[in-house]
Amino acid sequence: MEYRIALLKGDGIGPEITESAVQVLETVGARFGHRFVFEPYLIGGAAIDAVGEPLPDKTVEGCLASDSVLLGAVGGPKWDALPADMRPEKALLGIRAALGLYMNLRPAKLFPALKGASPLREDLTAQGFDILIVRELTGGIYFGEHGTRTGRYGEEAFDTECYSVYEIERIGKAAFEAARKRSGRLVSVDKANVLESSRLWRRTMHRLAESYPDVAYSDLYVDNAAMQLVRDPQQFDVIVTSNLFGDILSDEASQLTGSIGMLASASLGETKRGLFEPIHGSAPDIAGKDLANPAAMILSGAMMLRYAFGLADEADAVENAVDAVLARGCHTADIVGDSGVRPLSGSAMTAELLRELGGQRAGSARRY
Ligand code: NAD
Repeated sequence: MEYRIALLKGDGIGPEITESAVQVLETVGARFGHRFVFEPYLIGGAAIDAVGEPLPDKTVEGCLASDSVLLGAVGGPKWDALPADMRPEKALLGIRAALGLYMNLRPAKLFPALKGASPLREDLTAQGFDILIVRELTGGIYFGEHGTRTGRYGEEAFDTECYSVYEIERIGKAAFEAARKRSGRLVSVDKANVLESSRLWRRTMHRLAESYPDVAYSDLYVDNAAMQLVRDPQQFDVIVTSNLFGDILSDEASQLTGSIGMLASASLGETKRGLFEPIHGSAPDIAGKDLANPAAMILSGAMMLRYAFGLADEADAVENAVDAVLARGCHTADIVGDSGVRPLSGSAMTAELLRELGGQRAGSARRY
């Protein structure tokens, strides 16, 4: 099979880590008989410098014409003084909207070799954990009616949480399907004891659950979920929740792994064409020094294989290679901790991963 991937390298460490991901994907492609064609497009500060805007039309058109989109990161101090509408980060909202991405998948996995990096007590991390948070991305309070007005006590502001059955079913089905592909457990998080929108969310999820008898389904109030995540993260497999609650819980869960350089994400919509990117930013403080950990970007590539292309074995191969390389003690500076191990550069880490995948570099199909 041939897959066309729009490659948005962006700024800071973006070009370094996307290069690592390209090498890993080409290697896994060669091993499994696929051809990945990478087509680079400008985004963020690099696009501002080249053509005067953070998200050129050509980039949007290229992404829409691709099978999937791989994004490094955007932003940096060079562009911080620009007006909000012209800043590199503006391109992120623009590309997500243009691709109609309504759900965000964020795994928070504690790799066995990195247990020491977690801020949790040793007894809580002994079993490890592997959580997938499915967050609704285009509805809820971030997009509801909002404004300011004069009320009983003077100036006031309001934001409205609103969800339709259609939106809840759409994200709910995706979460049940994701749970089926994993260990078959799904927790829906809401605040149905207080919020009307949460009561509709819960009713809709219960109705959906009847169609997925093979998935062990339960509900949690968001305050309890926040507590349970730090009390016993191992109890969770897939969590589905609204835009606001997902924003907060996914950051909490990712922090439990203790390593921003390891965390991938996927944003998906009606089509299989998703946007896959690490959760970290462009890390200007280490850009160009070969210090960046490429793992989050590479694991985002693995999510692309799994969720955009349905290539589960290939995704497993990449994830297992990351596991194995970490277990051998190959760590970049961000995850080396106080282990006393000499940290690897980003390119040395990539080389270890390529070696682990055991592939010869394929004939390159890159057009850059
Ligand atoms: P950041 O995630 O870029 O960096 C935070 C810290 O983590 C830094 O010390 C950095 O060196 C480190 N770090 C991040 N990724 C790493 C990696 N792969 N390997 C090793 N260390 C890593 O967050 P920030 O400093 O708040 O933001 C920097 C720029 O990135 C800003 O312009 C911000 O707007 C932008 N940003 C972009 C995105 C995105 O493109 N999706 C997300 C967040 C921030």
